[in-house]
Amino acid sequence: MMRDLRIANELTAAIRREEINVHLQPKVDLNSGAIVSFEALARWFSTELGNISPDVFIPAAEKNGKIRMLEQHVLKRVLSWLKKRREHGLDLRQVAVNISTDHFFHHSFIPYLVDTAAEYGIEPEWLRLEITERIGFVDIETAYKVFKQLQNYGFTSSIDDFGTGYSSLSYLQKLPVHEIKIDRSFVSRMHEPATLAIVRTIVQLAGNLGMVAVAEGIETEEQRRMLIDAGCRYGQGFYFYRPMSLEEANLL
Ligand code: C2E
Ligand code: MG
Ligand code: MG
Repeated sequence: MMRDLRIANELTAAIRREEINVHLQPKVDLNSGAIVSFEALARWFSTELGNISPDVFIPAAEKNGKIRMLEQHVLKRVLSWLKKRREHGLDLRQVAVNISTDHFFHHSFIPYLVDTAAEYGIEPEWLRLEITERIGFVDIETAYKVFKQLQNYGFTSSIDDFGTGYSSLSYLQKLPVHEIKIDRSFVSRMHEPATLAIVRTIVQLAGNLGMVAVAEGIETEEQRRMLIDAGCRYGQGFYFYRPMSLEEANLL
């Protein structure tokens, strides 16, 4: 708790000092390896505390009311990267930004998103919002309204870490969501027949609901093959690309 509090307290200054950066990891077509879009991932190298993993500072920020500020910073970094690409005559790529539960349900989430994208001159189609399934779709009515607004404005959305949230499947058909991300805990255990069956089922479910399945954490050629055989068309993972700096992503 003390560590989390210290980290969360450092965050505001860290953002001001430009210590929070964004790395991008490509999402690819599993067959051709072609890049279809990117996911933005927050990175923090602190002058005070050293290199801190997102698995540490994201939960700390969530617990201490700093997550919205952090994610707004990530969003701006992404928008500014897209804007610069456009100014340099490069083609735009869709970028997915992770949004935590508190942020997603915050009353100013959508207005802020719409205003900030407009400020940078970036159309909604270039942004995707990834919301973890662990959001706990308890308040399904409110969640539906937020997803619907995103859709109405032209943003696309994604359910992250699918399969880890233990939520009921019936909520899924109600949501205007474009993508389901198969959690990497399943991808890493596909050699187990039962896990492979789950992966196949998620891919089919996504297809039947008009959504796209994206597999996370692909590390081997064997996993790529198994996913293609399971009908999964898209994925991301170290096998293809590790998360990279914005400058490196420009070289792709
Ligand atoms: P995530 O959204 O599920 O992101 C994917 C994570 O898997 C990233 O970890 C990425 O580096 C890692 N990864 C990608 N390919 C592979 C692979 O082949 N093998 C393995 N072992 N890992 C792979 P990262 O960057 O450490 O982020 C961890 C989590 O932190 C993210 O999981 C996401 O939930 C959270 N996170 C990062 N940035 C943000 C943010 O701006 N907002 C929120 N709410 N969460 C964020
Ligand atoms: Mg994600
Ligand atoms: Mg994930």
